[in-house]
Amino acid sequence: MAIERLVDTSADEDDTQEQLIEVTLRPKTFQEYVGQDRLKTNLKLAIDAAKKRNEVLDHILLYGPPGLGKTTMAIVIANEMNANIRITAGPAIEKAGDLASILTNLQDGDILFIDEIHRLSRSVEEVLYSAMEDYKLDIVIGKGPAARSVRLDLPKFTVIGATTRTGALAAPLRDRFGHIYRLEFYQPAEIGQIIHRAADILGSQIHPEAASMLSTRARLTPRIANRLLKRVRDYADVNGDGIIDVPTAQSALSMLEIDEIGLDAGDRNLLRRMVEHYGDNPVGLTTLAALTGDEATTIEDFYEPYLMQIGFIERTPRGRRITIKARRHLSSEN
Ligand code: ADP
Repeated sequence: MAIERLVDTSADEDDTQEQLIEVTLRPKTFQEYVGQDRLKTNLKLAIDAAKKRNEVLDHILLYGPPGLGKTTMAIVIANEMNANIRITAGPAIEKAGDLASILTNLQDGDILFIDEIHRLSRSVEEVLYSAMEDYKLDIVIGKGPAARSVRLDLPKFTVIGATTRTGALAAPLRDRFGHIYRLEFYQPAEIGQIIHRAADILGSQIHPEAASMLSTRARLTPRIANRLLKRVRDYADVNGDGIIDVPTAQSALSMLEIDEIGLDAGDRNLLRRMVEHYGDNPVGLTTLAALTGDEATTIEDFYEPYLMQIGFIERTPRGRRITIKARRHLSSEN
């Protein structure tokens, strides 16, 4: 059975009501998009230059942990360029033919957003990077001796790729991106702003102290901030008068087993197992995954980035090691 982690940074895809809320909360302009100032400055410049020259934007690669706003930024860019956006993901494009049909349906100026671009197969990657390079598509028609290669002209489009790891991208594909930007974790004050904005949109009343409490527990990640707000709001609606104050937020968060720095039972389990089995010694990723029963990629994408950001885990050449800071946190909870 799959257990939903509340602090899980993957998108809520299986619930239409959640999806609807997700769409309403998503910023659509640079102004609504909180934080990531360096990224916004660079992109605004690129957009203004492209508009002035009447050209399409150069291809953009956004990377960083899940939930930090890569998809949202792609939507903002499309809006600011007045462009259509087509959203897809690496695992959804199985064959070169799938990509060919997406590409041939694009129009001049369109943006193609490919989430999890590191999960494209090599054969699809090859087609993609040649299409990105010169807006041409080479396809083979027919089979065997009668097969022939045809070169099709494609419209001038922009690829925005999102990935949690640039390292997993083939170099030729990475080289086709004119802009490569890393999304950073947010400041707690920015997360606070995101929570207030979301509460306004959802029509919820939240006390500033309660918002700041949530913002220290949202792992510096907008997706988690919104998710915590929604759960605390449910709790306030069911157990109170709907107003989110500190006691309500506190009870909801302790019911959800989220501690004062945003760690949940899954994080604590991971850290405890590291201490129990390895003490101060480093442990390899696959061993760690076997210890917790998670996929190695889950540890890499969902647990580790935040635990490293707050200095609880460090990476050494021989594996991951738990820090004294993390040990102190664990013992303070016992
Ligand atoms: P990613 O693609 O990096 O996994 P998303 O773009 O899907 O992350 O962001 C997750 C959610 O967090 C979005 O639905 C949006 O509501 C919210 N969000 C992301 N970035 C911001 C931001 N900078 N300001 C406000 N809300 C944001």
